[in-house]
Amino acid sequence: MSDATVKYLLPETDLPTDWYNIVADLPTPPPPVLHPGTLKPVGPADLAPLFPETLILQEVATERRIEIPQPVRDIYRLWRPTPLYRARRLERALDTPARIFYKYEGVSPAGSHKPNTAIPQAFYNKEAGTRRIATETGAGQWGSSLALAGSLFGIEIDIYMVKVSYHQKPYRRALMESYGARCVPSPSLETAAGRAILAANPDSRGSLGIAISEAVEMAASRDDTKYALGSVLNHVLLHQTVIGEEAIDQMAMADAYPDVIVACTGGGSNFAGLAFPFLGAKLRGGPDVRIVAVEPAACPSLTRGRYAYDFGDTAGLTPLTKMHTLGSTFMPPGFHAGGLRYHGMAPLVSHIKELGLVEAVAYRQTEVFAAGVQFARAEGIVPAPEANHAVKGAIDEALRCKADGQARTILFNLSGHGHFDMQSYTDYFAGKLEDIDYDEGDLAQALAGLPKVAD
Ligand SMILES: *Cc1c(COP(=O)(O)O)cnc(C)c1O
Repeated sequence: MSDATVKYLLPETDLPTDWYNIVADLPTPPPPVLHPGTLKPVGPADLAPLFPETLILQEVATERRIEIPQPVRDIYRLWRPTPLYRARRLERALDTPARIFYKYEGVSPAGSHKPNTAIPQAFYNKEAGTRRIATETGAGQWGSSLALAGSLFGIEIDIYMVKVSYHQKPYRRALMESYGARCVPSPSLETAAGRAILAANPDSRGSLGIAISEAVEMAASRDDTKYALGSVLNHVLLHQTVIGEEAIDQMAMADAYPDVIVACTGGGSNFAGLAFPFLGAKLRGGPDVRIVAVEPAACPSLTRGRYAYDFGDTAGLTPLTKMHTLGSTFMPPGFHAGGLRYHGMAPLVSHIKELGLVEAVAYRQTEVFAAGVQFARAEGIVPAPEANHAVKGAIDEALRCKADGQARTILFNLSGHGHFDMQSYTDYFAGKLEDIDYDEGDLAQALAGLPKVAD
């Protein structure tokens, strides 16, 4: 077998013209989003302070295809279509009969899949006359993606960055500032939500849930400011389907079709982006495909969380969505895949998991980094810590092929590169990465605090 690099690149002219909306093909629709006060389904007017109308309409859309606006496609062309690789050297290193393909989203200017939604979100906001967007960021990948989009469309970006990451990741902050964004360590004194947290705990290291509360409060209280979220919401998952739409064509170029698709899940957007177009084809009578979501054992919303209505943030400012959740007050232990530290899972991914259409597995961080290092040494690309979860999932699938002698085709999403995360590799090589389990007592307490909603 040759181990020459094989890369499938679509011509720019074959960039998808539509995003794919899985809701059109589901056997049952996802449960409604509820207003936290009335517990009645939210209407577009409830969301209007936070999002421009086009995005609200996409949030509740039921049509199968939604056109990608030309100005968005023009910017996508900076890095899209992204390459699909056949991981021949990894296959050889594993001595597996499996064929392993990966879609590489790290070629975007911000280094991950997140600009796929940051660009259209900024575009629709610009169209609606938004002057400023407030958002949160954990590890900094979403913040840098929205900062990039803000600079391209001339929108001010205010980013509430989880305080511990703000201090641990100075280069991510520098990247956001290079694109012209303002970066504030969260919890901050700028918002009531932040001040309340600091009054109770002056040493708070922050969390994604707290930072979301701050950004939502800023957007809700200022007329010229909207809010943007980098994962979880239906419109975010929709924008990410450009990944899977390209992958379907590229797999055809390779004369192959996946038997199994693997992606990591934080809020679920890169997973949905790759998997939903293939799942939709299956739901419409196309080829069968297994779909595996990989999450960290330290923040296991899909494998250990409860499927229940919960808030998206810590202060309870967001609508209630039914999702796999660890409880909005759950604080995951410190681990290195910052982008996978969210307490909940996308409602659409959760619904599809409940329907039995996808599987989920959880891995510990040291085995995940071992997989990422093996991948880097075989394929040359150093993955983001989040993406290492997908690499680990794909390697385990390939080893299963070796055990049962089946030459299955595996497709996984390499959601980003790890160039801003080298400290976590340094810690891994120094033996400093610990497999800390979340605290069962804390989880029980967070789950006990879930809002009471009758089914
Ligand atoms: C943010 C991020 C993730 C996790 O977010 P999802 O919405 O689950 O995709 C995964 N990988 C990378 C590189 C990220 O930046």
